[in-house]
Amino acid sequence: MFLKQINLTNFRNYSQLELQFDQRPTLLIGNNAAGKSNLLEAIYLLSTTKSLRAETEDELIKKDTDFARVEGFLTNGGDSELLVIINKPTEEVFFKKKVLVNGIPRRAADFIGNLPAVIFYPSDINMVSGPPTLRRWHLDLCLAQIDVNYKKVLTAYEQFLTARNRVLKSIREGHGKLSELTFWTDGLIAQGLKITDKRQSFFEFINVLEKPLGEFIFEYKPSAVSEKRLAETNGREVAAAATMIGPHRDDFSFFLEDRNIARFGSRGEQRTATLAFKLAQLEYMAKIMGKRPILLLDDVFSELDAAHRAHVVEVVSKQQTVIATVELEHIPQEFLDSARILKVEDGQITS
Ligand code: ATP
Ligand code: MG
Repeated sequence: MFLKQINLTNFRNYSQLELQFDQRPTLLIGNNAAGKSNLLEAIYLLSTTKSLRAETEDELIKKDTDFARVEGFLTNGGDSELLVIINKPTEEVFFKKKVLVNGIPRRAADFIGNLPAVIFYPSDINMVSGPPTLRRWHLDLCLAQIDVNYKKVLTAYEQFLTARNRVLKSIREGHGKLSELTFWTDGLIAQGLKITDKRQSFFEFINVLEKPLGEFIFEYKPSAVSEKRLAETNGREVAAAATMIGPHRDDFSFFLEDRNIARFGSRGEQRTATLAFKLAQLEYMAKIMGKRPILLLDDVFSELDAAHRAHVVEVVSKQQTVIATVELEHIPQEFLDSARILKVEDGQITS
């Protein structure tokens, strides 16, 4: 799999960009606010239809314009074209987002997976000590790219969960009966077990990989769902009108040897753990999909020590990789020699 070209129209600070990639790793260099991270974000949008940075998708649309368009051409066996359009709805053109493969509109679940990607931002460090939702989100974005079914199961699970919580609320209000829960409980358990299973396989795999970045353990803490456990919590569930157990309450933690680094890790350890987690995702995706995802690294070298930098350089050579950086200072010479260096300035590639 190889992303040959990306075209942007009105995306963030880019009015128009056509960029071809070659077999070398791509190094984007430019001052702050030049548009380096925006370009990585655009590639990731082609992978997942999602941005990890934008709070709302209309942020992606260039200021004072009405739509953003990101188009990618890739070889993946044959050639294909991926297209994401983000639109400011008007009376004539009312859609907000459209995704197409070879010109044919697709649902997100069927679009994802064409261009598998792993992205690392410095801010991903929040994943270590932030709320569980953030960790689950990073996890799900990886698993959904591997397996169309995962996204569908997640959606089904969420529907059962919402419906079940509605019944719990009606019981609390005195007009529902516990027996009305059965159908939703059964569905919740059936879908929930599938999610737990897939997450479990992921963690089993990543914890036995080689650990060149340090002895990190990613400890999965599933909130296992079963009839028995749900029955035990019924009283509290009704009082809260919320389902208290299930994969929507799953979490995982980062350990270095036996230290939970959310609490006891240095900033550098937390950052390295995040990178180790992302690179482990990459290996898992490669194994399951039989092809290596594109790797997008935003400002990865600056806080790593020399040994860890050398490891990153080694990984970079294994698949298509795009790296963004402000300065060349921390970047190993070996990598510079192998890379294609592109200068980004004010939403343009100038050399
Ligand atoms: P840094 O080195 O600081 O990380 P960068 O090159 O990664 O910089 P980006 O985050 O890619 O920079 O680009 C940031 C620029 O894009 C900012 O100037 C920001 O104002 C601009 N920008 C973001 N969204 C939009 C938008 N919707 N329309 C126009 N400009 C935007
Ligand atoms: Mg940036």
